[in-house]
Amino acid sequence: MRVIAYYGRHDLREEEWPRPLPGRGEVRVRIQSVCICGSDITQYTTGKIGDVATPVPFVLGHEAAGIVDACGEGVNGLPQGTPVALEPNMPCGECEWCERGKLNLCPHVKFLGSAPVHGALAEYVVVPARHVVPVRARVTFAEMACIEPLAIGIYVVRKLGVGAGDTVAVFGVGGIGMVCVLAARASGARVVAVTDRVGSRLALAKQLGAERGVNVSERDAVREIMQLTGGRGVDVAIEAAGVPGALRDAVLSAAIGGRVAIAGIPHEESWELPAAVARRRELLIHNIRRCCHTTHAAVEWVERGVVNLAPLVTHRMPWEKAEDAFELAAARAEGTLRISLEPELPREPFYA
Ligand SMILES: [Zn+2]
Ligand SMILES: [Zn+2]
Repeated sequence: MRVIAYYGRHDLREEEWPRPLPGRGEVRVRIQSVCICGSDITQYTTGKIGDVATPVPFVLGHEAAGIVDACGEGVNGLPQGTPVALEPNMPCGECEWCERGKLNLCPHVKFLGSAPVHGALAEYVVVPARHVVPVRARVTFAEMACIEPLAIGIYVVRKLGVGAGDTVAVFGVGGIGMVCVLAARASGARVVAVTDRVGSRLALAKQLGAERGVNVSERDAVREIMQLTGGRGVDVAIEAAGVPGALRDAVLSAAIGGRVAIAGIPHEESWELPAAVARRRELLIHNIRRCCHTTHAAVEWVERGVVNLAPLVTHRMPWEKAEDAFELAAARAEGTLRISLEPELPREPFYA
């Protein structure tokens, strides 16, 4: 089968690898779309994620969708040809944290596209059946691949108890910030402002229901949000840029007694926190690691049309252009958000 193999920073090669066989309880999925996530870009440009070096050769990609191709022994209810999204987070199921239901915190977790588990930029991927989620909606495979980030957005708003009457601001509207906007809106909250440096992303966030876009290369986000809220600040401030400035802005924009999420992935070892303000306002500051128990909610939202993920997918590119696609994604240029890499002309889902 064809794979896109990572061979070092800025070096991807198309190769022929053996096609995997599904074992007992496993399903082989024929991949139709893989969306490039910030964590893939980090590995592609720096050769590591956190303190874990990406081995060579390695297959990246975890935001993925495809069709059921073959099932191993003991797998029922997933007929060949079923359109599915992949749930990339595979906890051990046996440790203290798994037993407590904190599946995203399992220290023995295997994660698709995170060493040593090869990812989804392959023609075929084999995963345990429970990590294959049928999607019964008339959407593209690229949209199905965005179900994984949507699940993170739902997890963030669930963790912070976002609901009707809440005012929200999202600091950084890349893929994760954008799904936080969708999830907050769908939960009944007002998204009074989003921030970013990319104009097209601010425009898209507004199209998805944010009331104001603040370009932080030109304007002061905190001052703007304080003005918009009559000096009160927002109930919920979501850092989704993975940069220290966004956390600072989030803390300083939060209302007294407000909640702050750190949903971005920091590149630095440590960040500065405006500690005096955070204490005086008694802010609840919540770290976010991936997501937990929200994939089915994300699928259901897509199936019922609660959210539309189509605008998140700005580019669909063939595998031959994998390196171009990663470079484009890494540039975070105007007009880009999620870039879908597709190994063949997708046989788009067929639900009428
Ligand atoms: Zn991702
Ligand atoms: Zn575990």
